[in-house]
This record gives sequence, structure tokens and C-alpha cells, in this order.
Amino acid sequence: MMKFIDLQMQYQHIKKNVNKRIQSVLEHGQFIMGPEVYELEERLADYVGVKHCITCSSGTDALLMSLMALGIKPNDEVIIPAFSFYATAEVILLLGATPVCVDIDPKTYNIDASQIESAITERTKAIMPVSLYGQCADFKSINDIAQKHNLPVIEDAAQSFGATHHGRKSCSLSTIGCTSFFPTKPLGCYGDGGACFTDDDDLAEALRQIRVHGQSERYNHTRLGINGRLDTIQAAVLLEKLNILDDEILLREGKAANYHKHLKSASSLTLPMTRDENSHVFGQYTVLIHKDRDLVVELMRQHETPLFIHYPRTIPEQLMSSQKFNKTHPTSNIASRSVASLPFGPYLTYNDQVKVIEKLITVSEKVQSQSI
Ligand SMILES: *Cc1c(COP(=O)(O)O)cnc(C)c1O
Repeated sequence: MMKFIDLQMQYQHIKKNVNKRIQSVLEHGQFIMGPEVYELEERLADYVGVKHCITCSSGTDALLMSLMALGIKPNDEVIIPAFSFYATAEVILLLGATPVCVDIDPKTYNIDASQIESAITERTKAIMPVSLYGQCADFKSINDIAQKHNLPVIEDAAQSFGATHHGRKSCSLSTIGCTSFFPTKPLGCYGDGGACFTDDDDLAEALRQIRVHGQSERYNHTRLGINGRLDTIQAAVLLEKLNILDDEILLREGKAANYHKHLKSASSLTLPMTRDENSHVFGQYTVLIHKDRDLVVELMRQHETPLFIHYPRTIPEQLMSSQKFNKTHPTSNIASRSVASLPFGPYLTYNDQVKVIEKLITVSEKVQSQSI
């Protein structure tokens, strides 16, 4: 089976420098909040173009810490897209608050900004759009709505680190931007990791305290927090990975352009599109399969070309057992039944990509032409 994302190839590329960086942490021994963590935070803040970067233990914790810093509490409502990774909703539920789902734009799979305002109630305390698959949500419109209603905005940028919207980097587009360094994300480490970004000094201070058990100074716990720190070893890995991020984004764009060129004539598929105001980092290369997605995925697997489904259920479907949702989300429902992500990454080989293209066209066209 070919790899869905090839992380080993990337390691071979940067092995010498990564090993040296890790070795240096092993020698100095400051495994918790060592100098690499602060060096990384400075470089990441610089890269994104914001004042503060607060690294943490995962993308999920970045979202949780952000909601905590904003004071989200039981019975508050937070608006999110109906179609995302489950963590987007999970962190809201963990605080006893209610995720209010809004349907997505069929072209980008991101929250449909035109439907946000009708979801705002007196209990709404934040809007949390997701920049899904590596393309930023429509923050220009979202921020206008948020400003009008005096609401903070958190970007779930777990899949979009390095992308831009109107020339500004993902993670700098809202009150707080949150990303993930899970190994397969655009900027990944060799374990779990994440970060929050903000220009707001008070929120940055709150996030730094929440990251260490709500301590304002050692053993003085002035607010509720978590153990949310990024390991120094992961910071060391990320410092080396950040050096090659822009080159890798170019490689991603090239692979995506190649998929586009060879798949665009297939009537059985709808390919990802990039809005004019955005640059797309293709955290995933995700297509819509018009007929019987699950059969196409199974046939592709038989050809040893793995597809992944991001995501097979909408958020309301995941939460059905514990939550009551009285709204339907037709576009999210279609997406969850029809999307599939193709093998992808900066180091996807030419041969593998050709194989995916050939098999996907054959299989999806055949499935489409079969009458049931
Ligand atoms: C990966 C991901 C997360 C969670 O990040 P972790 O680092 O795995 O905790 C949250 N939201 C989205 C959209 C993601 O893709």
C-alpha cells in the first residue's frame, strides 16, 4: 500500500539538523520550557505576523485554552461549522458550553459566513470558524459580523498553518488563532503539539497562565488552568521543520496543481478550489466524489491507493446522543457522505501521484456509469 502521507521521506531530508537539535536538548536537559520553546515562539510569532505565540501540548488544547482565556462557561454558546474534526466541538462541550453549528459553503467546505448572523443569540460568546483542508475561512466577512455583535473570533487553523487570506497569514486573522503540530499537519512535530497566536497582551498573559495550571507565579494559582506545555524536544524538531515550511508549501502547491491538471476533466469528481483572496496550503487534497464515495474508496484500497475520509460524519451527527440539534445542515451532510482525501504531501512521488490519478479516474468513472 502506498503511504497516504510520507513522513519518513521528510525526515531523511532534515535528519542531520533535527538529530543535532534533539541531541542538544538531551545534553542541556531542560525538557520542560527549555530555551527552544521560547526561541520557537518568537520565530512562529514572527512568521505569522502577530505579537504573541503561546505554544502548547496539542491543537485541541490550543482551542481549549483559548476558550478558557475568553472566559467561556457553562450555558454559553459558541458558533462553529457543522463540518470539521470533532475536537472543534469537543473543547466547547468540555467547558459545559454549547456548540451551535452553522452549515458550510459548498465550494470551500468552510463555515458559510452568510448563515452566521441568524445563529447568534444572547448566549453567543464566540465564533470559532475552521480553516478546513488548508484554506482560510471567510474571515473578512466573519470579522465584520463579530465586530457588529462584539464577539471574539477563534480561528481553528489546525490544517492551515502557512496559508494566507488577503495577504495575511492564517492564525493572525482573528482574536486568537490556534494551530496543531500533529505530525501530519502542514507544520508537524514528532508527537503532539500546538500553539495559540494573538495580538492581545491580556489574552496572551491569560493563555500563558492557563498553560501552567493557572499559575501567575510559581505555586500561586490564580485561575483554572491545565498542564498544556509543549515539550522542549518537540520545539527543537519544529525549529528545524519551520526552516523548510515555505519550501514544502511550494511543493504542496505543485502536487495540488498536478492533481488538478489531470483530474479536472473527470465528471465523477469535484476538485478543491481556492478563492482569489486566499493561498491554500493543502493540509489535505480533498475531492468530492459524485457517486458512491464508499465504493470508490474501497476499490481504491484494493488498488493499494489509500483514500482517507475527512470526515465521515458531521459534528451534529457525532453529538446526536448527547445534544439536541433542531437545525439541518444539508451541505455538511453532502460533504460528509461524498468527500475523500487523496494521498498527498510535499514528498509525494511522481509515480505514486500518477498511480492515484489513473486509478481514481478509472474507478470513479466506472462507479458513476453503473446504474443501480
Ligand atoms: C487536527 C485538528 C485539531 C486537533 O489538533 P490536535 O493537535 O490533534 O489536538 C483540531 N481541529 C482541526 C480542524 C484539526 O484538523
